[in-house]
Order: sequence, then structure tokens, then C-alpha cells
Amino acid sequence: MPPIVAIVGRPNVGKSTLFNRLAKRPKAITHDRPGVTRDRLEATVELDDRIVTLIDTGGMDFDAPEGLERQIVVQAEIALNMADVVLFLVDGKAGRTALDDEMAERLRRTDKPVVVAVNKVDGAEKINALTNDFHAWGFAMMPISAAHGHGVNDLAGALAELL
Ligand code: GDP
Ligand code: MG
Repeated sequence: MPPIVAIVGRPNVGKSTLFNRLAKRPKAITHDRPGVTRDRLEATVELDDRIVTLIDTGGMDFDAPEGLERQIVVQAEIALNMADVVLFLVDGKAGRTALDDEMAERLRRTDKPVVVAVNKVDGAEKINALTNDFHAWGFAMMPISAAHGHGVNDLAGALAELL
């Protein structure tokens, strides 16, 4: 069984877009509206010559009677249970949200390696403005643009090193 890299993050941060890029062919459906994707769950992908099982936890179809916030915490729990490395994706354009903070709080209480990827850093000149918010958590952090591909190879390399 290949090691598992789980992508976690609140809706609309770009999990499916990143998943598709890492899987190198379209496998998940992205959508502009939060919370409506019904995505493919996993793919076997090569990260810097390491074969891994990549999981998009956003595609998990939970019953969420207690609301979005609860759903996201459950998503993090499941990811933590099965992942060898957690890829916590956040949205640099939107900045840090309360849900991001809650998830970070949970992810901090694990021994598993966590990498934060700050997505939607589409142009190099904006890196500092878009990533500043997220330094406070203290996780390893990388700026990426899942849509354009910037930083994605570096991210893959960083994840592979943690396996
Ligand atoms: P998910 O809900 O986390 O799976 O997010 P999606 O992958 O469905 O993306 C949500 C929205 O963000 C879509 O409109 C994407 O086109 C957009 N998006 C994803 N990655 C990027 C990026 O790197 N830059 C920008 N500007 N938009 C992005
Ligand atoms: Mg999605």
C-alpha cells in the first residue's frame, strides 16, 4: 500500500483543482460554489518519484446535520486517521478564516507531518501579501497556484520528503 497524502481544507480553497493537477488528468469536478462538489476521492499519483495515494477529503460525502463547521472538523479527523502526511490547503486570496483556525488547531495536535499550502498565489509579486496571515500557525508553508501550477512541483517535492 502506498503512503497516503490527504488534502484537507474548507470548501472552495482549491482542493479539487490541486488534486487534478497532481493527478495530471481531470478526475474531479471543480465548482465555484462552496460545498457542492462531488469529487473523486482518491488517485494514485507520483510525487517526485514517490508513489502515493492522494485523497481529496472535500469529495467525502458526509451527512452533516451539525453544519459545515462540524463537517470540516470531521473531515480533518478522518484525514488524520488515514493519512501519513496531511496537506492543509488554504486560500491566500480569501485570507485566514475562523474555520481555517479551527482546523489548524486540530491539526496541531497530531504527530503527523502537516504542510500548509497557500493557494491562489497566482503571481509572484503577491506572495507576502497572500501568505502573511498563515505564518502564525507555525506549520511548514508553501505558496502555490493550483490553477496555474506555480509552486506545485516544489510542494510535491516537500511532501515526498516527509514520506
Ligand atoms: P474545493 O472546494 O476546495 O475543491 O475547490 P475547487 O478546486 O473546486 O476550486 C474552487 C474555486 O477556486 C474554483 O473556482 C477554482 O477555479 C478556483 N481556484 C482553484 N485554484 C485556484 C488558483 O490557484 N488561483 C485562483 N485564482 N483560483 C483558483
Ligand atoms: Mg472540491
